[in-house]
Amino acid sequence: MVISFDLDDTLIPPGETDFPTERRNVFQKLFGVERIRYKTSELFQHLKAQGHTVGIYTTSYRPKLKLRLHLLTYGINPDFIITEKENRQQLTKRQINCSKYPPAFNIDLHIDDSPGVEQEGQTFSFQTIIIKKDDTDWLDKVKSRC
Ligand SMILES: [Mg+2]
Repeated sequence: MVISFDLDDTLIPPGETDFPTERRNVFQKLFGVERIRYKTSELFQHLKAQGHTVGIYTTSYRPKLKLRLHLLTYGINPDFIITEKENRQQLTKRQINCSKYPPAFNIDLHIDDSPGVEQEGQTFSFQTIIIKKDDTDWLDKVKSRC
């Protein structure tokens, strides 16, 4: 299965205390590496070990290389990264009026925090798992569907 994760408010917290995050080392703090949700790297490893293709699908314009390097400092090596630039291109090309359309990138399951994306999934027939900020069960929620 091809699985994607949203970044902002799903894996990357909006503030310091919105959900538990992985510990950052001195290097990560020095280079301004963003905090990431606790156990993200474990989950990526678990999903990859199960044979899934796992990546990032974000509507952020962050540079891909920077994202990749920052994720690598946590031991996370996504199979793909889709940012807003490609997302917009695909949505425009297909004339689809929504914020994300995972089927355009052959994604089978997308994990996000946005109820709007869940709604879009129902409208445009794609699979989502919605994780709330205070979702302590998020790992099991994802694992049970993959
Ligand atoms: Mg989000």
